[in-house]
Amino acid sequence: MAINKEAYNQIHDELRLANITLVAVSKTKPVEDILELYELGHRDFGENYVQELVEKAAKLPTDIRWHFIGHLQTNKVKQIVPFVYLIHGVDSVKLLKEINKQAEKATRVIDCLLQVHIAKEETKFGFDDNELKNMFNHISTYGLNNIKIKGLMGMASLTDDMNQVRAEFIQLKNLFSELQTSNPELQILSMGMSSDYKIAIEEKSNMVRIGSLLFGERVTTK
Ligand SMILES: *Cc1c(COP(=O)(O)O)cnc(C)c1O
Repeated sequence: MAINKEAYNQIHDELRLANITLVAVSKTKPVEDILELYELGHRDFGENYVQELVEKAAKLPTDIRWHFIGHLQTNKVKQIVPFVYLIHGVDSVKLLKEINKQAEKATRVIDCLLQVHIAKEETKFGFDDNELKNMFNHISTYGLNNIKIKGLMGMASLTDDMNQVRAEFIQLKNLFSELQTSNPELQILSMGMSSDYKIAIEEKSNMVRIGSLLFGERVTTK
């Protein structure tokens, strides 16, 4: 196990110039690999599974900014609220309310991104455009004082058709821009992974989530 330092340095430089945040997706990878990247100065790491994140966070330096990028179940929110930095995949009002409730108990304010369903696949999670716009019209009435919605997150279809991937990113970017006009606090657009981050950047992503290019292919299908 070792990280790909060459790929890291190259991606890091490419993104830094454009002011894009790199979230290093370390799911299924050992803490030793995370430490290797940490020692190069990296602090933003992404994990998909609550149990795995909680175990790793306990073993690693506390100045790591942990991004939860997976599908979060309401009954597991409590476990990550004490230390999580940004929750990317918020896909329901119910979940948002639970994060708010747990954050209040922990006397924290937690930054969240709302996940938008842009892919063709039914299996992916997220709001659709109209649901999201509708939610933004009502959100101020929910009294959610312990969360901050900082932006949007999306995953493109798993396909070799890069025109389709680009079209999905453009759709997300357009929705983001439209919502920003009345919600200026929206600043983060999280889109792009190993296979499509270059396209995502061209379409104005400002946060990419990259795993396999940095840590190597994952053995499991997780
Ligand atoms: C696993 C994962 C990534 C990273 O995937 P790679 O293809 O390894 O870069 C990014 N975002 C989410 C939501 C993921 O689950």
